[in-house]
Amino acid sequence: MVGATEKREVGLDTQNVIEVATTEKGFVNKKSFKIDIFRGWCKSCGICAALCPRKCIEIGDDGSPVVTSEAKCTGCGWCETHCPDFAISVREIKVSPKDEF
Ligand code: SF4
Ligand code: SF4
Repeated sequence: MVGATEKREVGLDTQNVIEVATTEKGFVNKKSFKIDIFRGWCKSCGICAALCPRKCIEIGDDGSPVVTSEAKCTGCGWCETHCPDFAISVREIKVSPKDEF
């Protein structure tokens, strides 16, 4: 379970955090992922939270999955692959360095 202050509800309009790393050649984007849970299809079985190796998803107080650490997502796809109801989607967000400025 996670506390109320740690929870962050996600929906279709959620934007992931764009991480930018600095190298000697300038700014480069690290991979970022957007995680969407489609509430109408989710039956709150908890499989996604149980399988996520980075603990990006936890079970909230109401028993439904909550994305708590989207920035840690590696895009491995385990949550998406194992969801029995196709209720979770993980997509890479592609942003070119020039879009950051
Ligand atoms: S695995 Fe799918 S149905 Fe189960 S809690 Fe996660 S999103 Fe919902
Ligand atoms: S894609 Fe992998 S790291 Fe990202 S939320 Fe799903 S299981 Fe976790």
